Amino acid sequence: MLGLMQNQPLLISNLIEFADRHHGDGEIVSRRVEGDIHRSDWNEVAKRSRQVANALDSLKLGHGDRVATIAWNGYRHLELYFGVSGSGRVLHTLNPRFHPDQIAWIINHAQDSVLCFDMTFLPIVQAVHAKCPSVKHWVALCDADRLPAETGIPGLQSYEALLAAQPDRYRWPEFDENTASSMCYTSGTTGNPKAALYSHRSTLLHAFAAAMPDMMCISARDSVLPVVPMFHVNAWGIPYSAALTGCKLVFPGPALDGKSIYELMETEKVSYAAGVPTIWQMLLTHMKPAGLKFSTLKRTVIGGSACPPAMIATFNDDYGVEVLHAWGMTEMSPLGTLCTLKNKHLSMSNDEQMKIRLKQGRAIFGVDMKIVDADGHELPWDGKAYGDLLVKGPWVLSAYYQGEGGDPLIKDELGQGWFPTGDVATIDADGFMQITDRSKDVIKSGGEWISSIEVENIAVAHPAVAMAACIGVAHPKWDERPIVVVVKKPGAEMSREELLQFYEGKTAKWQIPDDVVFVDAIPLGATGKMLKTKLRESLKDYKLPGNPT
Ligand code: AMP
Repeated sequence: MLGLMQNQPLLISNLIEFADRHHGDGEIVSRRVEGDIHRSDWNEVAKRSRQVANALDSLKLGHGDRVATIAWNGYRHLELYFGVSGSGRVLHTLNPRFHPDQIAWIINHAQDSVLCFDMTFLPIVQAVHAKCPSVKHWVALCDADRLPAETGIPGLQSYEALLAAQPDRYRWPEFDENTASSMCYTSGTTGNPKAALYSHRSTLLHAFAAAMPDMMCISARDSVLPVVPMFHVNAWGIPYSAALTGCKLVFPGPALDGKSIYELMETEKVSYAAGVPTIWQMLLTHMKPAGLKFSTLKRTVIGGSACPPAMIATFNDDYGVEVLHAWGMTEMSPLGTLCTLKNKHLSMSNDEQMKIRLKQGRAIFGVDMKIVDADGHELPWDGKAYGDLLVKGPWVLSAYYQGEGGDPLIKDELGQGWFPTGDVATIDADGFMQITDRSKDVIKSGGEWISSIEVENIAVAHPAVAMAACIGVAHPKWDERPIVVVVKKPGAEMSREELLQFYEGKTAKWQIPDDVVFVDAIPLGATGKMLKTKLRESLKDYKLPGNPT
């Protein structure tokens, strides 16, 4: 017997229609590439996303055609999020931090028909356009009078001119909720990048779940600043959860330095922000010497790579801001876990709570997870056993776009498919997961595993350390030994011996790194994570102290 409820597919157009009707005056504030602050609201975004849909119809784009963006977080990008997917096309957000050759490769792989870009990225588009025959329309996200005369890009048009010619009425099409809505290529540290292809259904379910109180807890009373880019995994789904809840959205545009972010937080009364640890490091480095405080910020979601305990403590103790440590990945839309305490933890001391807060957190309903040993047997949830982390759920990838890399899923004894995350983790009895490492970054020393994250966390707790990366170096007796590569804070003095001394008593003796290498900078990848492959490459001639052979 079937239920007798209305059978309305879960579509991204539902979100923008809802935002338009129910919180149309909800503010959307953007720092633009042009340098000024632009003010819009959900009514305006809805109207202009209908114009985007009409424009794509006028360009004769078919259902499922790919529309690419290379753009910062801003209102035009937001309009494309809804106009492109809502009209049945696939929004392909491109990461400008990839090398232009890789961008050209990705555009060709995705067979994008349209490319919309912020003027900051004109040089990238100039470098790739001749190599991308599938792109028939090049659109600069600017006013018509800002379009440079000579760009060398055939038929380049301005977004504003394109929209101005369109009516603002549009009937959003209805189709299967499993239809593809957007796509994002993974950073691909080895081999070519592969794409996760999200659906309308997966995006809406993720938007609901992400907004829940124990997750990102986004409401109409919040002013939300997503520093996490809209060009990578849909800014953790915040644009969709924002349309659903009607929170105020504050977009930083291209200005991601500590000073600009701080100013925007203060002027727009931001209560809630989201970003990777490197961004928050820049913010804190700006604030500390000037003795600045937050007047409205209450919570910040930090994820994308492990948030150092020292950062959680600084936000909490010095600024009264709650850090929500989150974990996920491109293949998971991206949210998997978020660290919020349970009722029984509330009476614990600050120190005990802190031990929980630095874990990556509990699974969100919609994501199931387990840890397994090398033979695929499930390991206990005791907070000690560590193994490969597998996940499944309606917003977890089932296959990469075009079947690249074959079937990624691992079947369990019931025939259910689990996605191997490539992370190594523990899970405790309360369901709190803690990432020990990427499986390829874990250091295998004398048959035991050393967590590079743990070694890094101790280093960055030292007041002179700005950034630290731990990598394994070949050792004749122990197979591998950890060393820690460190960037010092500007003006800070610290010797190798001082840092090694700092490890004493904070971890087991055999987990203390064998050496400290000071560098000016640690290479960062396209999504702001430390690129350990590059770091290993640059240290290939490095020899451990005493030169054991
Ligand atoms: P990406 O798909 O580029 O977003 O990268 C996903 C990977 O980033 C995960 O598989 C983890 O290795 C890492 N990651 C994300 N969030 C965290 C976190 N909170 N702590 C540690 N690693 C993380």
